[in-house]
Amino acid sequence: MIPVTKPYLPPLEKYQQYISGIYQRHWLTNNGPLVNEFELRLKEYLGLDHLLYVSNGTIALQLAIKALDLKGEIITTPFSYVATTSSIVWEGCTPVFVDIDEHTLNIDPTKIETAITDKTSAILATHCFGNACDIDAIDTIANKHNLKVIYDAAHCFGTKYKDKSIFEYGDVSITSLHATKLMHSVEGGLVITKKPELLKRMAYMRNFGHDGPEKFNGVGINGKNSEFHAAMGLCVLDDISLIIAKRKSQASYYDKTLENLIVRKPKIQENCNFNFAYYPIIFNDEETCIRSKKELEINEIFPRRYFYPSLSSLDYVEKSNTKVSDKISRKILCLPLYYTLSREEQDMISRILLRSVNYK
Ligand SMILES: *Cc1c(COP(=O)(O)O)cnc(C)c1O
Repeated sequence: MIPVTKPYLPPLEKYQQYISGIYQRHWLTNNGPLVNEFELRLKEYLGLDHLLYVSNGTIALQLAIKALDLKGEIITTPFSYVATTSSIVWEGCTPVFVDIDEHTLNIDPTKIETAITDKTSAILATHCFGNACDIDAIDTIANKHNLKVIYDAAHCFGTKYKDKSIFEYGDVSITSLHATKLMHSVEGGLVITKKPELLKRMAYMRNFGHDGPEKFNGVGINGKNSEFHAAMGLCVLDDISLIIAKRKSQASYYDKTLENLIVRKPKIQENCNFNFAYYPIIFNDEETCIRSKKELEINEIFPRRYFYPSLSSLDYVEKSNTKVSDKISRKILCLPLYYTLSREEQDMISRILLRSVNYK
């Protein structure tokens, strides 16, 4: 069976060593030594001054919205994982969808301004599949209209924009360290901000608002992560360069084996140093997409329709006009891409696709 992704697992002995340490210290969670070490190592690797390790990417989004005290409408992309939209709704705000650019699959900045009303408080954009948004254009609009910017950078571990970690951009950036992501700690997420006040607020929020055992600083939630998760994160982080290099070589191999396949691929944003987190292909139409998916499934290969359906079709949001997202979400497929995927498996996937798309 070939799934769309398979979590990277570090050598068991290495993980067990960390676990032995946890048993000795008897300190399982609540900002323990491994959580601290993991945060330090992440900052070092990413070249960041500040970040907080939290329980998952969804809590990270909710902390960001809460800490920025956002109200009313938040402009967002319909082409993302459901958590981008659900976090907005969960925090009592209204998502306003702006269509995507058909080449980059990220929110189309030329369509943002017409969506701004006097209720708009922020833009929440996803760097989809690890490819940077048009950050400069979004920043210009946000500054002009005094809006906050949150980037959902859940796919972006290792991506750089203008030679800096992409997590540096926006008022707050978040990422996910879920097992399905390029870099993971089983479950986990990060919030990143350059603003000390915001960082402090989110640090309190992540721990129920605790300011010492008997005092509270504002409303909080349980957004902490455990020593066991940090241990896995530390082990995977050791190998992150290998993981990204492998993805890159597998992606070039697909580029070669699928050179003649009648599909198109998203365009990488200028100034973006991409992390090869996903390998999406866009078919000419939905029928070909579904037929190819079925052919692959018959052969025990399970690509995923990331992202289908378009989030503007969720039944808890207002209907909106996002034609490009609606169209692309129906005919896009992410191909299997993970550390242990072999060339032979990529060959097989490519052969099946060519047969099903080109020679039907
Ligand atoms: C995975 C993902 C999330 C949610 O992260 P979790 O860690 O699973 O909560 C949010 N946004 C996007 C775009 C994602 O892909």
